[in-house]
Amino acid sequence: TYDATVIKKLKEQGAIFIGRTNMDEFALGGSTENSAFGVTHNPYDLDRVSGGTSGGSAASVSAGLSLVALGSDTGGSVRQPSSFCGVVGLKPTYGKVSRSGLIAATSSFDVIGPIGKTVSDVEIVFNAIKGQDPLDSTTINENTYPEYKKKGKIVIGVPWSLVSQDGVNSVVKDNFNKSVENFKSLGYEIKDIDLPNALALYYITNFAEVSSNLARFDGVKYGLHLSGDNLLQDYLISRGRGFGKEVRRRILLGTYVLSAGYYDSYYGKAQSARVSLRKKFEEVFSTVDIILTPTSPVPAWKIGEKSDPLSMYLEDIFSVTANIVGIPAMSIPSGLGNFGGKDLPIGIQIMAPHNCEDLLFEIGKKFLNE
Ligand code: GLN
Repeated sequence: TYDATVIKKLKEQGAIFIGRTNMDEFALGGSTENSAFGVTHNPYDLDRVSGGTSGGSAASVSAGLSLVALGSDTGGSVRQPSSFCGVVGLKPTYGKVSRSGLIAATSSFDVIGPIGKTVSDVEIVFNAIKGQDPLDSTTINENTYPEYKKKGKIVIGVPWSLVSQDGVNSVVKDNFNKSVENFKSLGYEIKDIDLPNALALYYITNFAEVSSNLARFDGVKYGLHLSGDNLLQDYLISRGRGFGKEVRRRILLGTYVLSAGYYDSYYGKAQSARVSLRKKFEEVFSTVDIILTPTSPVPAWKIGEKSDPLSMYLEDIFSVTANIVGIPAMSIPSGLGNFGGKDLPIGIQIMAPHNCEDLLFEIGKKFLNE
């Protein structure tokens, strides 16, 4: 019945819309396999996933069906499909883009971001959609954060202990090492930094907020409505049948971590860990300008390969921290790698301090020679 603020802004600036794209249900997942519309295949190998949750957006740009696309990023859903499909994806600073019109998943992480073939395209769309919005009280103005100060020569922090873990695919590691060398030859200084694995913190918070946000889908006002013998039955049947498996899993886990008796040991603990992580990033950004990691520890996997949800959650190790801390992060293509005879795209992720998207654009363009 109304346009999201980002859509309204793009329309006002003359953008032409050509379609809607596939995604995981309620933006929960990492492969676009949790979609009632079917799986989005990867343009580089049709047997593989496009990544997710904004897999349709990334695949459409990669396949040349659209020039640019939008996605939402709660824990990597713009960046990871971008890396799987060989395109550029930006997760802006939390609050920099209005979410009016976007369905809430994890309200304290969610942000809308552009996907494009080049950093310049992503920059244009970002500038067209950003800005404070009276319809979204979490949006920030340009002066919310202190001005960023360059540390002379740009210093890139690399969390080597996180990157060199066993779970990171060796071809991805080689590609990452080459990218680091490339940055060195472009004149950047590389510094070893220490960053923790924040997956547990991310998923506990995600489950909690998802279970709370999706409570409004009760079959009365939004979504599917199924009738039972009474109102309670209506709720139970509509919610029981209306949500897919992954969504129900997260609602159950979220209700558990928020329940009396467990709240302090899970949700409460995750919240205090979040404060420590923010402090940790402030410390790190006092010594480096940006942070570099692979976007994902693995390339696009085969459709159906990851039936165990936990194995998919683990692949979010590099992307979730930017959402927890609220900083901007961008995935850029770093070439192809050979995986079992197939050449598949690999991406690297650059993260900058709050509000420093321009720094990401500058460094991304240098890297891609734009
Ligand atoms: N893969 C992450 C999750 O399932 C990220 C999802 C997203 O960013 N929407 O929570």
